[in-house]
Amino acid sequence: MSDLAARDQAVIWHPFTQMQTAPLPIHILRGEGSILYGADGHEYLDMISSWWVNLHGHAHPYIAERISKQLQTLEHVIFAGFTHQPAVELAERLLTILPQSQAKVFYSDNGSTAVEVALKMAFQYWHNIGQPRRKVVALEGAYHGDTFGAMAVGGRSAFTAPFVPFLFDVEYLPAPIAGQEENVLQLAKELFTENIAAFIVEPLVQGSGGMVMYEPAILNELFAIARQKGALLIADEVMTGFGRTGQLFASYYLDIQPDLMCLSKGLTGGTMALGVTTCTQTIYDAFLSDDKLKTLFHGHSFTANPLACTAGLASLDLLLSDETQSHIQRIKKQQIGFAKQLSSHAKVENVRQLGTLLAFDLIAGEQTSYFNNIRDVAYNFLLQRGILMRPLGNVLYIMPPYCTTDDQLQYTYSQVLALLQEL
Ligand SMILES: *Cc1c(COP(=O)(O)O)cnc(C)c1O
Repeated sequence: MSDLAARDQAVIWHPFTQMQTAPLPIHILRGEGSILYGADGHEYLDMISSWWVNLHGHAHPYIAERISKQLQTLEHVIFAGFTHQPAVELAERLLTILPQSQAKVFYSDNGSTAVEVALKMAFQYWHNIGQPRRKVVALEGAYHGDTFGAMAVGGRSAFTAPFVPFLFDVEYLPAPIAGQEENVLQLAKELFTENIAAFIVEPLVQGSGGMVMYEPAILNELFAIARQKGALLIADEVMTGFGRTGQLFASYYLDIQPDLMCLSKGLTGGTMALGVTTCTQTIYDAFLSDDKLKTLFHGHSFTANPLACTAGLASLDLLLSDETQSHIQRIKKQQIGFAKQLSSHAKVENVRQLGTLLAFDLIAGEQTSYFNNIRDVAYNFLLQRGILMRPLGNVLYIMPPYCTTDDQLQYTYSQVLALLQEL
């Protein structure tokens, strides 16, 4: 046991980790590009972008330099009654790249808070205009974060079981995957009524639910039905944003634009914690009043932290560069190629790919739950070969940082094939 792992075990409680049985955590000394360097001399290819946050590789020198300069100028300032350059500039730049429907930017700390804010904006919008609506529609298998509101609009699972009595009621539609479209449309027509405040989705890809993918056409139809009944459309692009799907935002695949959007993860290139909720002018206007009670009473201590906003600006510079845009197309091409190769593999099913994302199900026999040990077998097999991937149950996926080279991808693919051989 390394010294640090022992000290860790004495004092730390890790996320999503059964501390009694989990192996000791791996001590990472530093990162560069897509590689994490372990204290034991091992290297790990970060093929899940460190829980989907990293866009440009670890310890990117340009982002580091920008944050470092900002740190010497203004590290933080209260954001009620005060403002600063990085917050304003990041909001301006985000609004130029988001769908045109988006007009205002509200800052918070992470993806869950971005979702909480969107839900509060939606409920209070209806409250403020004097037509209270009480229900949200979400998709089965959805994941919107781990705080209570975000959990409430997520799918019910083993993860939420202890909290179910405390979660507000949500109406669910099945995810509109291929073959389910007609069924889901039918249900949607019954479900959307004048009492639905909002419809929240992870557009085109349900991440934590197992990288479940569905087509833009069916989401357009669902959005149309929801909007006809007045429901506000919330696009949770915390995972799909900033190029993962091959477009800057998954919403760009849609004809109908959302009313509210949630961003985090790639927002700072994965460097710092920052969340953003954006909304339409109509929603914003419903909070303008001489009546103080119509205020959005929400905020966090570190709202619009200047360092995080600066990281966001630096990440956007990199993301919008020709170089990164061509990397995204290059990675997409590689992923398409490997998807083709996998599609005829006997131990794989439901190969799905969108932009830089590739996912598939390992054929796991009887049990396919998250707790099935095929997950541990795959995780350990790949880790031992220097690849960090974290299967969701029997779902294996590759979500590389955009700086990942073709050689690194090919090595990953070869080890995935070796894993399949082993199963
Ligand atoms: C990760 C995620 C969240 C939660 O973000 P955190 O920063 O982990 O709180 C919300 N929505 C989606 C779609 C996510 O993938």
